Amino acid sequence: MHIAVLAETRDGESRVAATPDSVKALIKAGAEVTVQKGAGERAAYTDAAYEAAGAKLATRAAAVKGVDVLFCVRRPDDETLKRLKDGALVIGLLEPHGATDFAKACADAHVNALAMEYTPRITRAQSMDALSSQSNLSGYRAVIEAAELYGRAFPMMMTAAGTIAPAKAFVMGAGVAGLQAIATARRLGAVVSATDVRPAAKEQVGSLGAKFIAVEDDEFKEAETAGGYAKEMSDAYKAKQAELVASHIAKQDIVITTALIPGRPAPRLITKAMVEAMRPGSVIIDIAAGNGGNCELSEPDKVVEHNGVKIAGFTNLPARLAADSSQLLAKNLVNLFPLLVGEDGGFAPHWEDEVIVGMALTKDGAVIHPSLTGDA
Ligand code: NAD
Repeated sequence: MHIAVLAETRDGESRVAATPDSVKALIKAGAEVTVQKGAGERAAYTDAAYEAAGAKLATRAAAVKGVDVLFCVRRPDDETLKRLKDGALVIGLLEPHGATDFAKACADAHVNALAMEYTPRITRAQSMDALSSQSNLSGYRAVIEAAELYGRAFPMMMTAAGTIAPAKAFVMGAGVAGLQAIATARRLGAVVSATDVRPAAKEQVGSLGAKFIAVEDDEFKEAETAGGYAKEMSDAYKAKQAELVASHIAKQDIVITTALIPGRPAPRLITKAMVEAMRPGSVIIDIAAGNGGNCELSEPDKVVEHNGVKIAGFTNLPARLAADSSQLLAKNLVNLFPLLVGEDGGFAPHWEDEVIVGMALTKDGAVIHPSLTGDA
């Protein structure tokens, strides 16, 4: 089986879908790997390291010629889709929600697309789950960005010149990113609280030493879907939640928001009035800014200031840790590899396997994912 890895073309995307270590693992498993020259440069992986790992280096056009599989971080461009052979597979973070145009372009090019965002949340697929591997780093990096924008220290410091109070950090959404944000803010010495609508989050937040704040009514008890994600809450719940958040947020120095609902705009959790109740110098990092934002004032990829409160809407925090995020994403792909080969080691995707079924957007010239065909 022949795999290609290209340099990413999206603005600000510094990750790469294979590292020298992952190339070594793929070759050991029987694959042949071609990497576009310079593909790993922005993630600090050199051409020489890929070559030493056994990859062939090629120009962009030559790298995809005749390959069975393209590993990518983000969607490939149209030109690349057209260069791929009939029946080739593209795997990456393809932003599949509502992606009718992209899926049609793949189907028209007879390219079979697997979206890593749709990796099923089953134990067997955990090691292939790129949303988790990347969210974890987002949560960490969000706190580091907050520390950079905050004009004060995080830990309590008792000095001869007086005492500095610890920063108060509030994490909204305690999924993979949120839990890592809690852990990171605690390591830096902040006093941390967190909220979520899923009851399972309560114990996880507590086990990290943070205080759990939430409206724990009957709706809260049923807010988790079978897939482990949050449901969209009713307007009545949202109103109660907003009241609780408004009083809590006014006392916070750092707020990290991570709340997402698959396939829906991010829930609006922080209003302009809530921002105005915070003290100047406070910082909000809105990890959901790329999905519409949890804060009314956040703007994608901008740091805006309102009444002295800085609101940052970074949409690609993993790219700010490109070496590590690439390493984990590349490992997710290595873990997926056995589902792409047959017993003889040749290219033979396991189309019946529930992991592949969950991820497949297109097959044999047709769009097949139920969320795109209207069968969901
Ligand atoms: P996510 O990125 O979809 O959302 C982030 C968090 O926001 C979630 O915890 C969600 O409950 C929360 N949220 C949504 N609406 C909210 C609101 N109105 N107010 C406050 N919070 C709100 O979620 P995620 O990080 O992918 O994780 C969700 C769960 O799935 C976690 O428990 C995680 O451990 C689990 N998970 C399981 C697997 C697996 O079993 N293979 C893999 C990954 C994640």
